[in-house]
Amino acid sequence: MKHLIDQLARERDLPDEALLSLIRCETPEAEEYLAQTAAAVRQKHYGKDVYIRGLIEFTNYCKNDCLYCGIRRSNQKAQRYRLSEEDILECCRHGYELGFRTFVLQGGEDPYFTRERMVRIVSSIKQKFPDCALTLSVGEKSREEYEAYFAAGADRYLLRHETACPCHYAKLHPAELTLAERMRCISDLKKIGFQTGIGFMVGSPFQTPQNILQDLRYIQSLRPEMVGIGPFIPHKDTPFCDEPAGTARQTLRLLAIIRLMLPTVLLPATTALGTVSGDGRVRGMQFGANVVMPNLSPLSVRKKYMLYDNKIATGEEAAESVHLLRKTMSAIGYQVVTARGDWKHE
Ligand code: SAH
Repeated sequence: MKHLIDQLARERDLPDEALLSLIRCETPEAEEYLAQTAAAVRQKHYGKDVYIRGLIEFTNYCKNDCLYCGIRRSNQKAQRYRLSEEDILECCRHGYELGFRTFVLQGGEDPYFTRERMVRIVSSIKQKFPDCALTLSVGEKSREEYEAYFAAGADRYLLRHETACPCHYAKLHPAELTLAERMRCISDLKKIGFQTGIGFMVGSPFQTPQNILQDLRYIQSLRPEMVGIGPFIPHKDTPFCDEPAGTARQTLRLLAIIRLMLPTVLLPATTALGTVSGDGRVRGMQFGANVVMPNLSPLSVRKKYMLYDNKIATGEEAAESVHLLRKTMSAIGYQVVTARGDWKHE
């Protein structure tokens, strides 16, 4: 495997068969070498810096019915909430004091947040925190709507493609959601000029190594500034309640592979990775990740944004505990920085 990993690091690419064998490879030696190689590439572009993003989960209302997701519209048991503009600004103020210079507004696809409301929220955040970057993650919208967000000052947008295989996509989503439309959104975001993040769940139901290969090919062709991957974790009130979770190890291997393919990508060690494995986010850094996204939502709603079971929300994951995160990261030689943490050109 070593020669394949070296080749991937050198050429940022591998033929399909070689890439598949790397995706499938589970030996500790290969993992160790992947981690080393990815960490060296990360070091070259981002040093030991860890960028932090304050994640504000501002609504869990959703008009979609994704089969894997705990806040899908059919889940009658979800306790729905939405934050007011004032609540959101308060989260930002708190986050700013804690050292956050990027805020991420994430939510279900909630029709209450019309274009006008979103534009107002984006404008006031950018006006009050002009030195901060703002990321949106609110799902599929028209090109015009994305343009309005961008004109209002939003800098980045996260929209995971979820899987690059149309058949697999159809097994994870109801018929009204299509991969073609998801990709239309992603391509619009990129054209408009957002720093764009895509990604997928690792170990989602029906996922094959071939699907992961397709995901990596799509990532290579789009050249996103950010890639978010995390293990699938079942949620008890969804059709996938009995499906097995994805593993931390496979997620870590894929983080490293993605770092080698896109050396300057912004790559978070996600909450889901921290949920399946206590040291997941720290291990993530050692496999090439350079971003963490602590939870900045008000404590009163945090337990309600349950995309999957046992999602971590307090403890070291929480924004208010960023001092603990700083300590943990510095113990392994990384430093949490107070910076926007934009994508870098090579
Ligand atoms: N509505 C927004 C935000 C979705 S939540 C959007 O459509 O982009 C952010 C991500 O959480 C999703 O893209 C999905 O990949 C992930 N997610 C949802 N349910 C999950 C689960 N059960 N396990 C792991 N990740 C999940």
